[in-house]
Amino acid sequence: MAENRTFTMIKPDATAAGNTGAITKMIEEAGFRIVAMKKVQLSAELAGKFYEIHKARPFYGELCAYMSSGPIVPMILEKENAVEDFRKLIGATDPKKAAPGTIRALFAKSIDANAIHGSDSDENAALEGNFFFSQFERF
Ligand code: UDP
Ligand code: MG
Repeated sequence: MAENRTFTMIKPDATAAGNTGAITKMIEEAGFRIVAMKKVQLSAELAGKFYEIHKARPFYGELCAYMSSGPIVPMILEKENAVEDFRKLIGATDPKKAAPGTIRALFAKSIDANAIHGSDSDENAALEGNFFFSQFERF
């Protein structure tokens, strides 16, 4: 079961630009079922906790400031081969390198404000989903 789920967040640049609906439509049309979804704004401290894994990287401070700068839309998604297929749907971290037609190619503004998150493993998908959602918010 776990390997059929991934976790995503529509990031502040994309919610602010009014792209929540367009991005969610692409996700559903690509065959992902929305298991959980809400709109929230993180404090810088909570963003720091979520991105703890990147603590040593030079962009960590800016990443936490950016991810707490506005509302985000976290979701748990279900599909066969969810983690890998979702990374393909969103494209490379840097939108300049993202394949045409991917969510980041279409909606990301820059390598930091890059519209959307996608978990990089089944293990992180489970951890990240648990960070945002209780068992009563999954359908
Ligand atoms: N990021 C950044 N500068 C970089 C690399 C990453 O600001 O040089 C930000 C960007 O928002 C990215 C996030 O940090 O989505 C996490 O980085 P990661 O390498 O995990 O990229 P992702 O898995 O999101 O493609
Ligand atoms: Mg990552």
